[in-house]
Amino acid sequence: MVRARSVRKTFGHLEVLKGVDLDVTPGEVVVVLGPSGSGKSTFLRCVNHLETIDGGSVHVDGELIGFTASGGKVRHLRKRDITRQRREIGMVFQQFNLFPHLTVLQNVVEAPTGVRGESRAEARARAGDLLAKVGLADKADAYPRHLSGGQQQRVAIARALAMRPKLMLFDEPTSALDPELVGDVLDTMKTLAEEGLTMIVVTHEIGFAREVADRVVFMDAGVIVETGRPADILDAPKNERTKAFLSKVL
Ligand code: ATP
Ligand code: MG
Repeated sequence: MVRARSVRKTFGHLEVLKGVDLDVTPGEVVVVLGPSGSGKSTFLRCVNHLETIDGGSVHVDGELIGFTASGGKVRHLRKRDITRQRREIGMVFQQFNLFPHLTVLQNVVEAPTGVRGESRAEARARAGDLLAKVGLADKADAYPRHLSGGQQQRVAIARALAMRPKLMLFDEPTSALDPELVGDVLDTMKTLAEEGLTMIVVTHEIGFAREVADRVVFMDAGVIVETGRPADILDAPKNERTKAFLSKVL
């Protein structure tokens, strides 16, 4: 589903990604761990072309992201094509960014009707199903400010799913939440994982990594230094940097 090769990203003089390789197979859940500033968010943003990479390539579902390579020449895609690619990649951030003036249901309906051109009736029916899936069927008519952070984040997840993404990217989806609200969001993500959604999740929730991830990737200083099954990485890391990181967070 995802094939990242030698992905490089530089901000000014700072090389943030120094050649990241990652394969994610359909249905796989990959958790990305790593210290602050190691490039985790930047890498996720490169996968859906919120950042333009400076080297290497990213393919999602066989399609080269952000560029077209025809006739031996690599060119940037047009904005329209980038928008089309991005529609198929859902992203959930630490901050939920719901539309404050729209109800929960309207937040979920807005994207598929506005961007995908689905009929309102179809989008509403599906939004209802998605809200039920994230445990918020009874909040459809509420406004975001009347919801807890955890509920708002679950609306954000439903909103992303409404676009029928092939791939979901989560960037520390529970980091802004009070501890007692984290569990519901992680449970929702676990359900999606069990349903076979392909997911890349940046998180510091080690319990989630252990229980839900098929694979854990440890990033440091712009490269992936170690990858493996959760138990192998979390209980028996080989790399010294992974060991040092885990000794602080576990
Ligand atoms: P955290 O765990 O704190 O979220 P991270 O692993 O997600 O960290 P990134 O946000 O990817 O790290 O940032 C990696 C480095 O790139 C940092 O040094 C950051 O300051 C820098 N960086 C990120 N975005 C930009 C930008 N738009 N302009 C300049 N520097 C940036
Ligand atoms: Mg980050």
